[in-house]
Amino acid sequence: MSYDLIVIGAGIGGLTTAALLAHAGRRVLLLEAHIEPGGCASSYQRKRPDGSHYVFDVGATLFGGFQPGGAHDWVAKHLNLRFPVVRLEPAMQVWLPDRVVTRYGEHDAWQEERRRAFPSQAAAAERFWHNQETLADWGWQFAHHFPPMPPETPSDLIELLPALRPELIAMLPHLERTVAHELRRHRLTDRALRSFIDAQLLISAQVPASAAAWIFGSVALDLARQGVFYVEGGAWTIARTLADGFIRDGGELRYRTRVAQILVERGRAVGVRLESGEELRAKQIVAGVSVWDVARLLGPHAPHSFQQRIASIPEAWGAFTLYLGVDEAAIPAGLPEHHQVIHSYDTPLGEGNSIFISLHPREDTSRAPAGQRAITISTHTRVGPWWQAHTERSVYDARKAEWAEHMLNAAEVVLPNLRPHIRYQQSGTPVSFARYTGREQGLVGGLGQRPAQSGFLSMGPRASGVAGLWVVGDSIFPGQSSAAVTQGAIRVYRLLRRRGVS
Ligand SMILES: Cc1cc2nc3c(=O)[nH]c(=O)nc-3n(C[C@H](O)[C@H](O)[C@H](O)COP(=O)(O)OP(=O)(O)OC[C@H]3O[C@@H](n4cnc5c(N)ncnc54)[C@H](O)[C@@H]3O)c2cc1C
Repeated sequence: MSYDLIVIGAGIGGLTTAALLAHAGRRVLLLEAHIEPGGCASSYQRKRPDGSHYVFDVGATLFGGFQPGGAHDWVAKHLNLRFPVVRLEPAMQVWLPDRVVTRYGEHDAWQEERRRAFPSQAAAAERFWHNQETLADWGWQFAHHFPPMPPETPSDLIELLPALRPELIAMLPHLERTVAHELRRHRLTDRALRSFIDAQLLISAQVPASAAAWIFGSVALDLARQGVFYVEGGAWTIARTLADGFIRDGGELRYRTRVAQILVERGRAVGVRLESGEELRAKQIVAGVSVWDVARLLGPHAPHSFQQRIASIPEAWGAFTLYLGVDEAAIPAGLPEHHQVIHSYDTPLGEGNSIFISLHPREDTSRAPAGQRAITISTHTRVGPWWQAHTERSVYDARKAEWAEHMLNAAEVVLPNLRPHIRYQQSGTPVSFARYTGREQGLVGGLGQRPAQSGFLSMGPRASGVAGLWVVGDSIFPGQSSAAVTQGAIRVYRLLRRRGVS
C-alpha cells in the first residue's frame, strides 16, 4: 500500500505533523520505535507489588504553548482536541547559592521579585528587562503568524514579507548579538543576576548568556510571562491526546516499529526500510527525529552539504535524570512544582551544577501511590564520558551511582528532608535516552541557540537537501520544547497541505 505521507517518530514533532495532515484528509502512516508516543516528552509507568504505580515524566515536565494563541492551543482548536492542562503560577523557583528567586508569570509580581532578588543594580536591570520584554513581544507577534523560518526558498521569502512589520525590521540589528552583549551594554555585572540569566537560558536556549542569541534569548527568558502549564496525568497525556486525534482522523500508527533507513531514488525520498526489512513507500517522508538521526537514516544518500552542516554544529547536550518516588512528608507545604538549583557560582552550569526538579501537583493523584509524589530531576551533561564509561558495566554503574548522589545533594537544597523518604529511585543517562528515544548518542534538547544557529541561520524542514524529505523536531527552527517542535510541525503541515502532498 502507498501512503501520502510516512512520518518517522511519534515524538511531539512527528505526531503533531501526522495528526494535522490526517485531519486534512491525507493517508498518513506514523512509525514509532517505542511502545508509547511522546519521545522526550513522554512518561513511563512503574508498577509496585501492591498494584499501585508511579508515572514519571522521562524528560519534559513544564510546558508552554497552551495559552490562547500558543502553538499547542492552535493545534487543539484546529483538531478539536482538549489537552487537560493547568496553568502554574509561579512558574518556578530558582535557588542560587545565596538566594531564592521566584519566577512569577504575572508582570507586576515578577517585576517586584526581580528588584527584591537583585537589588545591587536594580535600575540598570530594569532597563535590561524592559528591552527583553519588548523584543520578546515582537518575537511572539512574529511567531503568532507561523512564519516560514528560516526561509529556504524564494516562495518562503515572499510569504515572509507581510510578517516583516516595522517593529520586526527594528529587530534586525539584534541578529548577531548575544544576551551577554546586551548585559554588557547595560553594564550589568551583578554575579547573582548573571547566574540567574545563564541558568534560565541553559534550560530554554541550551547555552548561557555568553553564547545565546539575544533575539532567541529574549523570547526564552519570557516563557514564564507567556504562561507555563502542568499536563494532568503526566507529560505523555499530550502525545496520547494527539495520537487519539490522529487515529480518530484515519491515521495509521504502528508502535514497536523502527525505521532503519530512508529510501532515496534519483535524489528523492520515496519510502523507508524498517528494521524488520519491510519496505514502505509514500509520496513524502517526514522525519520527526533529530538531524543527526536523519543523516544516519539517509546513510550514503545524505548530501555532503548536509553532513558538513551537521559536522559544524558545536557540541550539543545530553541529560542525566533521576526519577524518584517520595513520601509527601519530604515536600515542604506550599512548595511550587518546579525548581532550578545552582550549586556554585564558580563552576560552569550543567554537569550537576544546575539541576531542574519537577514535582507533580499534589492534586493529581494519578501520578503516585497515596501519600507519595513522583519527581523528575535532570541536569545537562556531555554525552561522550557516558559512552566511554558504558564500555565497562562496573564503571558505568559506578558513574551512575555517583551522579545520583550529586543530584540528591543538590535536590536537598529544596527538599532537605528528601533522603529518608525515597521509596523508588531510577536514573537515566545519555545511554538510556539513546535506547528509549533512538536519538543519536542520546543527544537531547536540540542545538544551542547561538547567533550562528538561530533564527534565519537555523536549520529548517528542508535541512537534509533531499527532495520529498521534511524534518520536524527540536533540531530545526525554532528549537527545543514541546511548544517549539509544535511550531515547526505546523509549518510542515502548511507546506504539505498547500502542495496537496504530491
Ligand atoms: C531531560 C529533558 C528535559 C526537558 N524538559 C522540557 C520541558 O520541561 N519542557 C519542554 O517543553 N521541553 C523539554 N524538553 C525538550 C523536549 O522534550 C523536546 O524538545 C521535544 O519533546 C522533542 O520532540 P521531538 O518530536 O523533536 O523528538 P523526540 O521527543 O526525540 O521524539 C522522537 C520520536 O521518534 C522515535 N524514533 C526515533 N528514531 C526512530 C526510528 N528510527 N524509527 C521509528 N521511531 C523512531 C522515538 O522513539 C521518539 O518517540 C526536555 C528534554 C529533556 C531530554
